[in-house]
Amino acid sequence: MEEFNRFGNMNPTPEFCERPYLMDRPPFPIVGNLYFVGNLWCSSHLIDTGDGLILLDTPTAGSLPGLLFNIAALGFNPRELKYIVVSHAHSDHFGAVVALAHLTGAKTFMSAVDTRDMRENPERMEKMNLDLGYYNECFTPDVELEDGDIISLGNTQMRCVLTPGHTVGVMSHFWTLEDRGRTFHVGIYGGAGFVSLSRAALKRNGQPMSLQQDFLDSIEKVWDEPVEIMLGNHPFHNDVYFKRRRFLAGEEDAFIDPGEWHRFLEELRSKFQNFLKKSPQEVEAMYAGSQILDYYKGI
Ligand SMILES: [Zn+2]
Repeated sequence: MEEFNRFGNMNPTPEFCERPYLMDRPPFPIVGNLYFVGNLWCSSHLIDTGDGLILLDTPTAGSLPGLLFNIAALGFNPRELKYIVVSHAHSDHFGAVVALAHLTGAKTFMSAVDTRDMRENPERMEKMNLDLGYYNECFTPDVELEDGDIISLGNTQMRCVLTPGHTVGVMSHFWTLEDRGRTFHVGIYGGAGFVSLSRAALKRNGQPMSLQQDFLDSIEKVWDEPVEIMLGNHPFHNDVYFKRRRFLAGEEDAFIDPGEWHRFLEELRSKFQNFLKKSPQEVEAMYAGSQILDYYKGI
């Protein structure tokens, strides 16, 4: 058995793929106007800006009922959704966007680089859409973001930073929020998995080997961001359900951890450097079985 690797094979089990609602759990507030509305596999974060809602990433299309239920369970009307921001062009982050935008009229955002990648590689995209469940659809965002762009709505200004590697145009996001008179820096590292970055996978997907170096450079690029509340674009990247459990057990600041950003980036860098040294056979063994159920043991 491989040692646990949160950046390794954390794919949903076949049962989760067949019945995505099995991954649904109740939503919860993180801090201030920030909420978790995703599921055991995919993160989805909701921000109440005071002038409409921003959603950062959607789960796959099969999980749209759970997402809508979670938004409503927090007391919000999904029709208040104004912006849907997508971190990168992978179906487990955009699969439900087309349906959700259709239902709500929300404006959609993704980097111009990933938008072009999606447009120019329909076969690779469609294969991923099918592999990751049913009904996932590609989309063309209303707004194509460039490095450093700010998305502004109500009380929220979200800075979008290109951190290529996981995809050619994945973005990380940073903003501040207020909670009971305190200001917190929030950060989410876009695209932390690297199964798609083995030499074999890059070759298979017709992508440049330079993405491996980009992956390392992107970690450096955002190293100095002053993140106090770290989010993950998968819940197992920042242990969000475990933090929720600690919060419910009385730890009021369970989601606030100024040291987590560097611990996370260091873990990501060292695991990736290790990964680059592996033989094709070792890479295959590493991804042979999903570790998602091991991770959630006890939740
Ligand atoms: Zn991804």
